[in-house]
Formats: sequence, C-alpha cells, structure tokens
Amino acid sequence: MGVRLASDERLAPLAGRTPAIATLCSHSSLQIFHGARAEGLPTIGLCVGPPPKFYDAFPLARPDRFLSVSRVADLPSTAARLREEAAIIVPHGSFVEYLGPEAFASLDVPVFGNRAVLGWESDRRKERDWLESAGVPIPRLYEDPDEVEGPVIVKYYGAKGGKGFYLAKNREALAEFRPTGPYVVQEYVLGTRYYMHFFYSPITDHGYRLSRGSLELLGMDRRDEANIDELYKLGAQEELLKAGIRPTFVVTGNVPVILRESLLPKAFEVAGRIIERSVELFGGMVGPFCVEGIMTEDLEYKVFEISTRIVAGTNLFISGSPYSDFIEPGLSTGRRIAREIRRAQAEDRLAEILS
Ligand code: AMP
Repeated sequence: MGVRLASDERLAPLAGRTPAIATLCSHSSLQIFHGARAEGLPTIGLCVGPPPKFYDAFPLARPDRFLSVSRVADLPSTAARLREEAAIIVPHGSFVEYLGPEAFASLDVPVFGNRAVLGWESDRRKERDWLESAGVPIPRLYEDPDEVEGPVIVKYYGAKGGKGFYLAKNREALAEFRPTGPYVVQEYVLGTRYYMHFFYSPITDHGYRLSRGSLELLGMDRRDEANIDELYKLGAQEELLKAGIRPTFVVTGNVPVILRESLLPKAFEVAGRIIERSVELFGGMVGPFCVEGIMTEDLEYKVFEISTRIVAGTNLFISGSPYSDFIEPGLSTGRRIAREIRRAQAEDRLAEILS
C-alpha cells in the first residue's frame, strides 16, 4: 500500500458505485470526457451559465449531462449533488485558475490527484524550492543586478496569462527597467522550449519504475506564444519597443514536437526527480503533469515551470502521440486518467490517487 491521500470519509460516496467523471467545460474537457467515455465511465460537464452549444458539435466528447451554475463562485455549491452522483472531479488549468487554488483545495468532492500540490505550484518560490531540492537544473535567479551576465527575464510576482514579463539583453538594459511592482530577475535561457506531458501512477508496478509506481511519457508540445514568437519577423526587441509594443507570452495554440531520442533519458531523469521529491514533500504529485523547460545548445534542459495537472497541449494527442503509441495505440491523457481511476477502484486503491 502506498501513500493514502484521501480519507475514508472523502471516498464514501464512491463505495460500490461506478464513478462519474466531472470537470469544468473548458481547457481539455473534451479530451477528459472523450477518454472517460472510452473507458465506460459516465461524465458530468460543469458549466457557468447554459451548457456551451459547441459541445453538440462533438458527440463523442459531449458529457452525458451538464450541471450549470450562474457564477464560478457557485461551483462549490454543487458538491452535494456531485457526491450523490459518485463524481470524481478531474482538475485542469482553467478549473483551478477560475475557482482559485484555495476554493479548489477545499471542494468537498473526491478530486483526481493530490490536492496538496496546489500549495506548491501556486507560489513560485515554493515551486523553485521543490525543483532545486530535487536536483533539477533551473534558470539562475539573480538577487543582485550587478551580478547579471547575459540576457534576463524579469517576472512580476503573480505574472499570469503570459503577461507581466520584461526582457533585458544585458546588465545595462536591465538598469533601464522601471519596475511597477515586486518582481524577480531570472537568467533568460537561450534554447528551444519543450513541454513534456508525463503521467505518474503510484499504483503501477511495471514500465519506467520509480521508488514507488511508474512514470509514462504521453506526449510533447511547444506553445505558440503571442507576440514574442513573431519577434523575428519584426526584428530585434528594441525595434518592437521603439514601436511601443511590449513583448508578451500569451499562449495562442500548441504544436507537436518530439525530442532527439538520445535526450529521452534526460527527460525521464528530470521528471523522475520531480516526482520522487514531491513524494517526500507532500505525498506525491499523482496523474498528469507537464515539465516545461528549455534545451540549451549544450543539451542541458533547464526547467522554468511545472504544471501539476493535465495541460492543454495534450489536446494535440486525442488519438495518441509518437510516445503514447509505444504504450498503447490511441491512448490520450484523458483516457489514461479514466483508466487509472477504473483500475484503482478495481484494486481498492482509490485512496492513493484521489484526495
Ligand atoms: P512562465 O509563466 O514561467 O510559464 O513563463 C512564460 C513564458 O516565458 C514561457 O513559456 C517561456 O516562453 C518564457 N520563459 C519563462 N522563463 C524563461 C527563462 N528563464 N528563459 C527563457 N524563457 C523563459
């Protein structure tokens, strides 16, 4: 038996019942519903306002039923109804973002994964401590501007949605920065970005083993980020600034990528360390997560962020990816989640994957 994340009381509504998969209608919900349906589990779409009409366009990914509230803040009030329906909430980025990490963490419904992770990822300093103590290479943080060597990225606290960044190509350029709030100065890593979609199963004892459970790589993408990704078309950043345009990193889409095969051991090592450390720190990050970093020309992978749940980039791989096809053809992250829930229930191990 591994780490118990959920109490008996939390799991009581699921006893002897087929669980329903519930999530907020946004982000990667089509994939989550589609995967649950493929595994024979009923689905519930939580929505704010009337059910979104576009779900009618995708019959294989439309939830079996909708549960509507008039405001996001009312979502916790659906808890009793969700417990009655033996629902398990599958979190995704927008769900946590709209509701807020505290409200999400206190939802009185079984949640897939370990909700303790929320406290570690919503605070950039704690997330950095986690990565650093895991022995994962991360971009250097400059406490003193006089120590700056090379380009830096300035991140305002709570920078969100790709906005709230400032790039300076050297120490002199940084001296011209006029902050409008608290910020950190980080090494700007030159290289290529890879967003690696992993899945950690504490209840699987085959495949790529960790101290407990195993790690799967289900896909990989790169995000299109406006307006920075188009910078090269307009010339150097100074030209943009002269034109009064500030560089931003607003995600507008995703493209599939693969890694040089010889770099895969590094990818697994980094993801494995992140998981092992998460088990020590808070009982483990269970289910899908995304390691987001930059491969330098020296083939060092520096991690600037981790997303601790399903990321929207997995939507590229509804019918499998060049990685998941080596595990099982057609396996999406959404389906992998439903599979984990079904298996854990059959083996009476739901307490290890729900919280
Ligand atoms: P974040 O909010 O940390 O995910 O950063 C948003 C975007 O800024 C990323 O997707 C990257 O394109 C870029 N970025 C963040 N940190 C760095 C870094 N240290 N070096 C280079 N680019 C970065």
